[in-house]
Amino acid sequence: MLNYEDARALIFQNVKPLEKCTRPLTESQGLALSEDILAPHGLPSFDNSGVDGYAVEAEDLAQASAVNPVTLENLGYIAAGESENGKISSGQCMQIATGAPLPKGADSVVMKENIEVEGSKIRFIHSIQEKEHVRYQGEDIPEGDMIIPAGTLVGPVQLATLATFGFSQVPVHQVPRVSIVSTGSELIDVVGQPAEGQIRESNRFMLAGMVRQEYCDILKISMVPDLPQVLNEEFEEALKADVALICGGMSVGEKDFAKQLLKELGVKEIFWKIKFKPGKPLFFGRHGKTWIFGLPGNPASSYVLFEEFVRPALRKLMGRRVLEESMVKATLEIPITKTINRLHFMRGLLHEENGELRVRPLKFQGSHSIGSLVASNALIRVEADSPYIPAGSKVSVRPLRNEIA
Ligand code: AMP
Ligand code: MG
Repeated sequence: MLNYEDARALIFQNVKPLEKCTRPLTESQGLALSEDILAPHGLPSFDNSGVDGYAVEAEDLAQASAVNPVTLENLGYIAAGESENGKISSGQCMQIATGAPLPKGADSVVMKENIEVEGSKIRFIHSIQEKEHVRYQGEDIPEGDMIIPAGTLVGPVQLATLATFGFSQVPVHQVPRVSIVSTGSELIDVVGQPAEGQIRESNRFMLAGMVRQEYCDILKISMVPDLPQVLNEEFEEALKADVALICGGMSVGEKDFAKQLLKELGVKEIFWKIKFKPGKPLFFGRHGKTWIFGLPGNPASSYVLFEEFVRPALRKLMGRRVLEESMVKATLEIPITKTINRLHFMRGLLHEENGELRVRPLKFQGSHSIGSLVASNALIRVEADSPYIPAGSKVSVRPLRNEIA
């Protein structure tokens, strides 16, 4: 059986970013840039004022003080959006708005709050440093600078940066289309009233939610009973996606048909079963360009496996540089006494106290436990066959995006 690291390495070796394409800026959030973005021009693109005030030559105000005010002739007002047609000489100034182009001859701007107006004359009572309150061309981002490397997620800040440089179309990777099939004859829909032995299906909502967190497209979501004929049709459909998440029926039960049927459809097994808890029966395979993850039906298993294996694979397909959120070190609040012979990602509670991250595992760690999912906001990495881990130890923790009460 593969261990966690080897299984992940196999996924990362196999899965390659999808093709490059361009997307309109307004539709690029959540995608990964497929090329380095270089500044096509400097920013700011022209010298402009950083405040509402008066553009001056600093030299003119060198001797200005409360007892020795300097008076300059105001030549008028430059509003933001006006072109660079102003010009001053020694003894002159121009009123200027924040963001307006600096008139020729000026090298600094005095804030409006620090002057007195006397008709067309302006009195200054402080000297000023050259370049004060001026935003110089190229000082923020020089022309040609690499501003956003390929693989970066497009978020609000990247949208603004791309917009300011005129990228109405953004080079990105294609987005994986994901299909989700929940299998199990005990499953009924959310609107149904379960008869004895039945449960409301929940994994497909959870998995679809996690897929949407990664901005991937969902091709189809379905729920099917453990009937080979029906499963077969549904799997065939699911294999048209870039990623098929098949949930349930992956283990060794009498009705666990999924793995066998996938193989009959031509899916090549890359691995099945890992030394990991929760979620030992993880299946990973390939069918042409489609990647197949077989997830056990137990909700906590499929959740944790998605976090640790599927999410990074989706990000790799999207061309993301950051495949997962980093693990953090936290102080264990209560000892971990019972460890097992597999790596265990325990559901836990992570919180901050006096600037320190602290974590405690939940008491109940059942693979089927939905209660433990809504009550946890972190996964604690506990090595296989660990000795007793005393309180106060530092442990590795994967923070989760779960809001807990
Ligand atoms: P399986 O992996 O098919 O053996 O299922 C393991 C356990 O998870 C069983 O108790 C199932 O009833 C439950 N289960 C399977 N699929 C789902 C699902 N989609 N939603 C909620 N529970 C499920
Ligand atoms: Mg089942």
